[in-house]
Amino acid sequence: MTDEMINKRFEACRHVEDVWTQCLLNSANIVKNRDFSHVEDSEHMVPLHDAIWYASTEILPNLEVQAIIDAKNDIYVSTGTAGYVDYLTIDPNLLTGMKLPIKCWIHTHPFGAAYFSATDWRTIKIWKDNLGCAYVLGGKMSTDAHYGFWKHNRPNELEIYVDGEHARTQNVHSWESILGEEE
Ligand SMILES: [Zn+2]
Repeated sequence: MTDEMINKRFEACRHVEDVWTQCLLNSANIVKNRDFSHVEDSEHMVPLHDAIWYASTEILPNLEVQAIIDAKNDIYVSTGTAGYVDYLTIDPNLLTGMKLPIKCWIHTHPFGAAYFSATDWRTIKIWKDNLGCAYVLGGKMSTDAHYGFWKHNRPNELEIYVDGEHARTQNVHSWESILGEEE
């Protein structure tokens, strides 16, 4: 990897982290000692999603960016090529630092189609008992609102939105078939 690319990946992560801190500051009515651990629902904030999309498509040349927000509202940002999933490929029990359950897993499909790939469903399969919700972004949230939304209580379904309107539901019919597929 070139130095320039390493710098851009670092910049992309920093951008998302900074916007997330701002989201927490804006959504917390009373934050004592910058303790954000009790802030609720900031993972749904549009500026965060826009920052992740921007990092993926403007700072980086259409590389996947993913962010994980843990139970303490700590954010873990990583970058990679499409299909590359970093933190979430390992067993939840082996994680150090993150506090479970994870509130939200957000990642981009920078070429503009929001759906769960076989790799993404495998991640869900591993994490569904320790994950509150997930977004896959297929466009800038504030303007395109093309995304998929997954929620803990309906683990087999990804609801896909286009222009903010519900467009379709992607279903898993069999977890065994998902685990059997290789990309
Ligand atoms: Zn994906």
